[in-house]
Amino acid sequence: MIYKNISLKKFNTFGLDCMADCMIRIRNEKEAISLFRGEISWKKPFLIIGGGSNILFTSDFKGTILYPEIGGIKVEVKDQEYVIISAGAGVNWDKLVEWTVNKGYGGLENLSLIPGLVGATPVQNIGAYGVEVKDTIEKVIAVSIDDGAITEFSKNDCRFGYRNSTFKSENKGKYLVIRVYFKLTISPLLNLNYGSLKEEVTKLGSVTLKNARQAVINIRRSKLPDPEIIGNAGSFFKNPVVSSSAAESLNNRYPQMPSYKDQSGGTKLAAGWLIDQCGWKGKRVGDAGVHDKQALVLVNYGKATGKEIYNLSEKIIKSVQEKFGIDLEREVEVVGTI
Ligand SMILES: Cc1cc2nc3c(=O)[nH]c(=O)nc-3n(C[C@H](O)[C@H](O)[C@H](O)COP(=O)(O)OP(=O)(O)OC[C@H]3O[C@@H](n4cnc5c(N)ncnc54)[C@H](O)[C@@H]3O)c2cc1C
Repeated sequence: MIYKNISLKKFNTFGLDCMADCMIRIRNEKEAISLFRGEISWKKPFLIIGGGSNILFTSDFKGTILYPEIGGIKVEVKDQEYVIISAGAGVNWDKLVEWTVNKGYGGLENLSLIPGLVGATPVQNIGAYGVEVKDTIEKVIAVSIDDGAITEFSKNDCRFGYRNSTFKSENKGKYLVIRVYFKLTISPLLNLNYGSLKEEVTKLGSVTLKNARQAVINIRRSKLPDPEIIGNAGSFFKNPVVSSSAAESLNNRYPQMPSYKDQSGGTKLAAGWLIDQCGWKGKRVGDAGVHDKQALVLVNYGKATGKEIYNLSEKIIKSVQEKFGIDLEREVEVVGTI
């Protein structure tokens, strides 16, 4: 399934109207293998794209977009405590979460409503409401782009970190994820300790798996812009992790600054708060802007180009550096010329 001169507008949640020379839709494992074994010719460079919800295109893409459409959700193993399910890379993430919640399987509910496809979730190690997808991933099956070999990555092999994994670091651009295995609980232990989650669940009635999912959905809908209405890619920047001593000296200057202990031993700061303190919340430069409810989210009000959004992000990085001495890192992947 090879397409030429494709508009990427529907393939990125910023809604940027860029073009790609080619797009290959990969419908199953066999197609992926034959593609990378060189059985058909295709134009490099390439970019794998799922829902395009973490990508900022700053120019047309002069190469091939690989779009995995591999579907299927399966129960692989089930006992009294756990169930292992697998899902194809092309399955919509939130549809999978909904499916697990309807079956009564626990573990993914706090990750409800995150846009994108299953294949990207181990790449990004998506996270929300105190949970990261690494907490449930059992293994990842990928195809080597070099030679089409099927490769299995255990949870350890994935080298998960904060919005990071081997697929974004030493193995970046080397594998196409085709299937992900999740280990879920049969008697869910809900994790409602984050923010106002418990309160929101209580408002819905009893503490159940379905209500936990619904609470996450309600909170997200009240805070985050819907990409179908205003183009965005969720959090544009990562929350910076600094040493405890750096956090302490910042806390002395800004006692109201939110900070959290990080698993790495450092202190995580809220990038949105830092950006807000620099006066960016709700600011607009042409059609590129900073969301008025969440300063961590950059938006396309309609006709912004990727370069304009990128330039706005540069200004934000500069002002956070000047005011707090902290370098913000983009969570969104920038693709194209700057
Ligand atoms: C409104 C909104 C809210 C969001 N909220 C959150 C949130 O709460 N938490 C969070 O973690 N993220 C959040 N995100 C970011 C984004 O949804 C996630 O990063 C998501 O996992 C990206 O999935 P995708 O399919 O769109 O990937 P894409 O953006 O298409 O790709 C992301 C990266 O993964 C690679 N990739 C994609 N599929 C594959 C594959 N099959 N094999 C190998 N590499 C692949 C791509 O090459 C790219 O490098 C949000 C985004 C939006 C728009």
